[in-house]
Amino acid sequence: MCDAGELRDPLADLESALARVRAVPHGGRSREQLTPDVIRLRRLIDQAELEFAVRCGELAATGEFDPEYSESAYQWIRDECKVSGRVASDALAVAEQSASLSGSVAALDEGRIGFGHLALMAHTAAALTESTTAPPIDESRLLKQAERHTVTRFRRDCTNARHAADSAAFLNDYVDAADARFLDVKARDDGSVWLRGFLDSVGAASLRTVLESLGRRDGAGDIRTSEKRMADALVELAEFALHNPDIAGGGARAPQLMVTASVDTLRNAPGAPAAELDFAGLVPAETARRLACDADIIPVAVDGEGRPLAVGRSRRMPNTATRRKLQLRDRGCVFGNCDRPASWTVPHHIVFHENGGGNDLDNLASLCNRHHWVVHEGGSQLVRTKDGRFLVLPPPSDVPRARPPTTTAA
Ligand SMILES: [Zn+2]
Ligand SMILES: [Zn+2]
Repeated sequence: MCDAGELRDPLADLESALARVRAVPHGGRSREQLTPDVIRLRRLIDQAELEFAVRCGELAATGEFDPEYSESAYQWIRDECKVSGRVASDALAVAEQSASLSGSVAALDEGRIGFGHLALMAHTAAALTESTTAPPIDESRLLKQAERHTVTRFRRDCTNARHAADSAAFLNDYVDAADARFLDVKARDDGSVWLRGFLDSVGAASLRTVLESLGRRDGAGDIRTSEKRMADALVELAEFALHNPDIAGGGARAPQLMVTASVDTLRNAPGAPAAELDFAGLVPAETARRLACDADIIPVAVDGEGRPLAVGRSRRMPNTATRRKLQLRDRGCVFGNCDRPASWTVPHHIVFHENGGGNDLDNLASLCNRHHWVVHEGGSQLVRTKDGRFLVLPPPSDVPRARPPTTTAA
């Protein structure tokens, strides 16, 4: 006969102990009283994570997951235990490697390392075991680092250990990640797009370095979210390529946005039809006017109902020599205190071509992509004083305008 104590479910004991811990009233405790409890709780969680990992490993070893239904132990743990893929993969890696990492398991039990350290150690051991050329993991060396370093720093230690032990496999992993790059550009009916993609760490570093630099906050008045600043920076990067023919390479014609618009649209005359932009479809007249400051434009004569009668020749304005002189004169964006250099600007026409403005330097101003937007769609006015300074005037209050890009009003 078994006594009642042996029949008790140890997990039920743990549940009731945890319930008692959680029933202790919170609040009113000092830092000195709280810190030992927080550390003890974390150790218990780490030990529970280790036990969770070991049992996940036992579950996986039953072999009762049916690959025909694409069901794996990893997927089951992730879905049924409601954890992230990383937690599931950490558990399985620790379960698989714990027998060969006894020193690290003991260190976790004694609170010298956390479960995050042990999981990194297990993934490293697994990677070295899989390689046919690498030596086995040097546990004692890594454990010394784990005891001294944060989990983030220990991730670097493990990566370095992998490279030192098997640089060929390390390079293969990087090449695989670079091969897996993709960018899915899904167009919607109105020409806007959703982006979804993946970049390897090195490609991502290049992109993030550029986007974070271009997308940094433009003074205290810039209340754009970081996501909006990143998206603005990506568009600015594309516009930079469009405005710099060298980037097309090989003497090929530079990529250009093609805008088709009636003369009335370009004049922003009441009743004029919308303009048409390749890939984007119909766009507002003011957007066409912004793009027309520095893009190929095909002016179209239309009849009273907007049907095209005659198509003019595409033209680009101003010419290269004038653009160079303009860049030399302005040395960058002239809007407020903007620090975008000349190469990142476009020539804005202070008085628009179809409203009588010319391509002479006096009628031109260098504006970065964002401030060009603010002047056109945002409705701010840029004027040049007789002594050559530029002033920015707010949008006239009596004219309904698009909100400027720095506002988040609905
Ligand atoms: Zn313009
Ligand atoms: Zn600017």
